[in-house]
Amino acid sequence: MECSSDWKWQIANRITTREQLEALIELTPEERAAFDGGTPLPFAVTPYYAALLGNAALRRTVIPTDAERHTGAGELADPLGEEQHRATEHLIHTYPDKALFLATTHCSTHCRYCTRSRLVGKNSGASPPFAESFQYLEKHTEIRDVLVSGGDPLTLPDATLDALLSNLRKIPHIRTVRIGSKVPAVLPMRITEALCALLRKHRVWLSLHFTHPAELTPETRSACRRLSDHGIAMVSQTVLLKGVNDDSQTLADLFYGLLETNVKPYYLLQCDPVRGSAHFRTPVEKGIGLIRSLHGRISGLAVPQYVIDAPGGGGKVPILGTEQIHREGNEIIVVNYEGKAFRYPDTEARAKGS
Ligand code: SF4
Repeated sequence: MECSSDWKWQIANRITTREQLEALIELTPEERAAFDGGTPLPFAVTPYYAALLGNAALRRTVIPTDAERHTGAGELADPLGEEQHRATEHLIHTYPDKALFLATTHCSTHCRYCTRSRLVGKNSGASPPFAESFQYLEKHTEIRDVLVSGGDPLTLPDATLDALLSNLRKIPHIRTVRIGSKVPAVLPMRITEALCALLRKHRVWLSLHFTHPAELTPETRSACRRLSDHGIAMVSQTVLLKGVNDDSQTLADLFYGLLETNVKPYYLLQCDPVRGSAHFRTPVEKGIGLIRSLHGRISGLAVPQYVIDAPGGGGKVPILGTEQIHREGNEIIVVNYEGKAFRYPDTEARAKGS
């Protein structure tokens, strides 16, 4: 019997072909051609998310276009250089105190700008055994923080997640465990009471991927509130995308909406130069201008940090406009969101010769 409120039904009935999608929405000739020509990342959306595709911005994030088949200047299949730091089948270890645990290659819905499009949807998504990865983590006592990602770890069954998190929590030097997921936006029915209790038991932080305020449906808001009611700490990551969320009001609506559901806007990410993503990328100056337009206008709690994930594995670098701050004698001139200049006395640094 059909049960669209069951997350397993949503995954089993994902829309993965042009024909299935065309039964729901009309495609443009360009979109149809992109399906027929083949793209590096397979197409997939949950029936739940497909019902939101009347929104042009969301549609752009999941329906293939011909532009994806073109590799632009500087674009790479693995823009963050993760494969150079692969320690085991499931572990990427780039920074001394952090490790990335790739628990699955499966996602319920595929984002066209995905940094890991080289992996996502490319095999069955079957994950365990993880034994070799746990052994590596036990041996590397410098690791304090593990980000469980993929693919989307919250598409794993509860029993698999419970075993994975239990094993991580047994390692004494690991102090924080985070899970990266887009599930509350694309598969909110997955956020069951049982899952919330499981995440609570293991004291997990959630880093949630949201793109646009149209994703904050009543179902998604309820899912986030359920997580919050169970005491799960949540932050968000948003990729800045041309033609999707690259205007100040859209970002303000998204970030306020997230705060209302107890999700702290954390990162606004400049789109990684992954192969076939040029049509999504905005100039860095635009990102600087957008984040500046939000500072002072909306609540400080709602403003994320604008970052570039440095290509090749350099880590996340906060980006601030240089024109926003400069020195004049013993004063620092700061320019606010309205473009007005204010003077801050900074005599001590000057006296020290800095
Ligand atoms: S949810 Fe994350 S991992 Fe999955 S396709 Fe989207 S960006 Fe990639």
